[in-house]
Amino acid sequence: MSLDSPTMGCTESPVLRERGQKAVFCGLTGIVWLHRKMQDAFFLVVGSRTCAHLLQAAAGVMIFAEPRFGTAVLEEQDLAGLADANAELDREVARLLERRPDIRQLFLVGSCPSEVIKLDLERAAERLNTRHAPHVRVYSYSGSGLDTTFTQGEDACLAAMVPTLAASDEEELIVVGALPDVVEDQCASLLSQLGVGPVRMLPARRKDAAPTVGPNTRFILAQPFLGDTAAALERRGAKRIAAPFPFGEEGTTAWLKAVADIYGVSAEKFEEVTAAPRARAKKALAAHKGTLEGKSLFLFPDSQLEIPLARFLARECGMVPTEVGTPFLHRAIMAPELEMLPSTAQLSEGQDLEAQLDRHEAINPDITVCGLGLANPLEAKGHTTKWAIELVFTPIHFYEQAGDLAGLFSRPLRRRALLAGGTTA
Ligand code: SF4
Repeated sequence: MSLDSPTMGCTESPVLRERGQKAVFCGLTGIVWLHRKMQDAFFLVVGSRTCAHLLQAAAGVMIFAEPRFGTAVLEEQDLAGLADANAELDREVARLLERRPDIRQLFLVGSCPSEVIKLDLERAAERLNTRHAPHVRVYSYSGSGLDTTFTQGEDACLAAMVPTLAASDEEELIVVGALPDVVEDQCASLLSQLGVGPVRMLPARRKDAAPTVGPNTRFILAQPFLGDTAAALERRGAKRIAAPFPFGEEGTTAWLKAVADIYGVSAEKFEEVTAAPRARAKKALAAHKGTLEGKSLFLFPDSQLEIPLARFLARECGMVPTEVGTPFLHRAIMAPELEMLPSTAQLSEGQDLEAQLDRHEAINPDITVCGLGLANPLEAKGHTTKWAIELVFTPIHFYEQAGDLAGLFSRPLRRRALLAGGTTA
């Protein structure tokens, strides 16, 4: 098959469904970026020292900046008597809120240990909510490794907020998914130039700016891993705008176009608003194409960003996806992406690590996208890797970030070529 014209469309492709040993983060890691987005929120994990260590490791240097998250560590006596655990949780929360009066939203985050001992955090949140309302709103969700993989922690968090959003009949558009502030501003500016509005974000930066929801609400996902949040919004009467995700020039244009069509924006207006940033994105992408074109790509399951990213890298950078793994495949949400993905890509859902490593070895791709636990061992075996976690911390959405997004993949290839003393082209 010619690389110039790969057959597009994975909608009908068979998906390899795997269960077995996994190498993924649990949903607690979502706290690391969510606490930065929601500036008046605090995330209190109810878990063990393992959970506290995980957060410490994932947050890196951020733990020295008085972050708005922490772990209420379950001790042996808590495991013996649940009544004590509840009383102690209430005491800890009261102390925390007294010390940090700036906190307006408190999330009790469930973990594997809290789930195993059946500590009912939903009830605890209700109880604490009545005690600390109206100044503080208390929510609960699970970020445990038993229920959630990595970015699903954000989905669980946002889905927990939806039932508490104020009801309204206003015609409003909600952009769903935590984006870095600079990206959120670009998104809001493009939509306002198109004449679309009012636009709200979920999550909002502060409690007071939370969106309202009702039968006249439309929403569009900015992240692909928000299936439960989408379902929760639909239960409140809101309607989802289906679109590919705003990665790369093509993805961003298709995402904006989906909104523009619903809001009746004229083709002339759309062209006028998008022409300049599209040209900038294309130019920025061209700088990386020489390194990426024709290179094969293997993605281990990690964040659910894998399918949109493979689509972007295939169509806009000329890469050749081999296996595209995802921890969870939401068919309806991913439909526009699957239509655009080259049909040569093997899709896999879930993980059986050893079997996947064997397939990876047989394919021997030019670049492998994987978690931190796999990256160094694979590098040591001579593979070039890209850490998937960077893709959730780095601004990668919309036009102005298209070049940076391609750069995240071209850099490891360039570095390897430099170390080998060769060229990348
Ligand atoms: S929630 Fe579970 S998987 Fe995550 S750190 Fe705690 S014990 Fe480990």
